[in-house]
Amino acid sequence: MTLPRQRIAILGGGPGGYEAALVAAQLGADVTVVDSDGLGGACVLTDCVPSKSLIETANAMTLLNRSPSLGIASGGLHTVNAVRLYERIIDLARAQSRDITARIAAENIKVITAHGRLDGPGRVVAGDQTIRADAILVATGALPRVLPGAEPDGERILNWRQLYDLTELPRDLIVVGSGVTGAEFAGAYQALGSRVTLVSSRDRVLPQEDEDAANLIENVFRRSGMTVLSQARARAVSRDQDSVTVTLADGRTVTGSHCLMTVGMVPRTEGCGLDAAGVKVDERGFIEVDRVSRTSVPGVYAAGDCTGVLMLASVAAMQGRIAMWHTLGESVHPIRLGHVAATIFTEPEIATVGVSQRAVDAGEVAARTQKLPLATNPRAKMAGFREGFVKLFTSPGTGVILGGVIVAPRASELILAVAVAMEQRLTAEQLAQTFTVYPSLSGSVTETARRLMEFKDLESRTGRARAPLNARGVPGPGRPAPRARAGAAGTPGCRRRTARQCPRCRAGTAPARRCGSTAPRAAARTPRRPGPPGSGDGR
Ligand SMILES: Cc1cc2nc3c(=O)[nH]c(=O)nc-3n(C[C@H](O)[C@H](O)[C@H](O)COP(=O)(O)OP(=O)(O)OC[C@H]3O[C@@H](n4cnc5c(N)ncnc54)[C@H](O)[C@@H]3O)c2cc1C
Repeated sequence: MTLPRQRIAILGGGPGGYEAALVAAQLGADVTVVDSDGLGGACVLTDCVPSKSLIETANAMTLLNRSPSLGIASGGLHTVNAVRLYERIIDLARAQSRDITARIAAENIKVITAHGRLDGPGRVVAGDQTIRADAILVATGALPRVLPGAEPDGERILNWRQLYDLTELPRDLIVVGSGVTGAEFAGAYQALGSRVTLVSSRDRVLPQEDEDAANLIENVFRRSGMTVLSQARARAVSRDQDSVTVTLADGRTVTGSHCLMTVGMVPRTEGCGLDAAGVKVDERGFIEVDRVSRTSVPGVYAAGDCTGVLMLASVAAMQGRIAMWHTLGESVHPIRLGHVAATIFTEPEIATVGVSQRAVDAGEVAARTQKLPLATNPRAKMAGFREGFVKLFTSPGTGVILGGVIVAPRASELILAVAVAMEQRLTAEQLAQTFTVYPSLSGSVTETARRLMEFKDLESRTGRARAPLNARGVPGPGRPAPRARAGAAGTPGCRRRTARQCPRCRAGTAPARRCGSTAPRAAARTPRRPGPPGSGDGR
């Protein structure tokens, strides 16, 4: 029996949409993509690709400014040609969109350039065309959130999508919001030569990220000359000809030449017909989906930023692919958010995968932690940088890698080793026994793993007891355990801060889940969304 060809309609041509289209076409479906602004989506045309291209130039400036310490007589000040810089970025984004368009065309996927909406069961309307489909994927992305009283004018008060229309580098740039997007742009513009003030409503930058990494980046920012205002919530932004003024909630004001607003994202679902179709959204308007991208309506799937599930291109693409595998009858693994590798493209970069220090400290995950500064790495010394570290988490008892944090130049590349180890359930010992190139930064990854190797029979062989684990599960040196300072040691490995806080430690009966050997349950417990609205950019 030959089954009829499945018809798939996709709203949105970003990573969530176009990656799904490629999978559906590969599986023999008849696929139509409806997109209003260009294939590649905001990811390629305005957000991820342009910002990373800008950051590449900023990193080159950082290196040039460091060149005298590397023995190069550069003989002058390096400056940025803003027009050329922005032209390069826009050309690059358009070229990437063209490549995707060519790939989609090669797979015989139909593309309709129009605004689309759901129009009853199995129907999508795009301009004056109606598409009938067996399954529909909504992947319409998100838009920059606008703070009332701080509406962008596209000239001096900007969102990140408007930066590339400027004809000059902002002289005094105020960045409002210290989440991922704010931190990336603040660092980049400071390196490019702007004087940057970063306005953070929290007590530190990158409040959702690993605290050690965020503190390191904040120190790097301050040392570079950036002004970082903590506990400073912006209430309004006004423009007066060539200057802007940001008014803070406590009445203080900050003045600059430009203001960049990075205060989060809102789902781009208005006019998509979700209400009429009965697709459930949450209180912030994000489409509710399960782990195989199904919405509340049978036959309607959703992927990417419009779902608010970890706003990353890689996650959008995976949600889209999973939706297609599911609807087209392939075997499918539900998405595992606890395995997502992510990077903040500051200099140095912060790359993370798996469990977080916060979950470990809160006792949600039993893990041993080891952190190794990069300052002792020979390759880092040769390249002339000292900032950064490798941190790994392993399961006590089994030694299985549960995740890690790497702060280093190109940490986005280095994290792969940890991600593979985690995905394949490798132990610290297996990672440590892997050869690395000498000299290399990845040598610090295996060295950190080596320090986490557990020699269970050491005591019986040598009569020497291992150094007790401190509060972070670190044997021997490392951050001293608070309870050791307090002179009230709990059961070794217990995640509670002091023996006094843990009645079972006091009694010497701390259970295995807190102190030892059982595998953690929380690796897959990454919060569905990284932060409360407005706390950052949801990335
Ligand atoms: C500044 C910045 C930097 C980022 N950097 C990174 C990074 O380094 N790495 C990373 O993984 N992620 C990054 N992200 C996140 C990443 O860009 C998003 O997660 C990704 O774009 C989500 O893809 P998407 O397909 O859901 O939506 P989008 O990329 O937004 O695409 C949605 C598409 O749908 C179209 N559309 C919307 N409504 C309709 C409609 N009704 N009809 C037809 N078409 C419609 C839009 O025109 C658009 O083309 C960054 C985000 C920002 C803001």
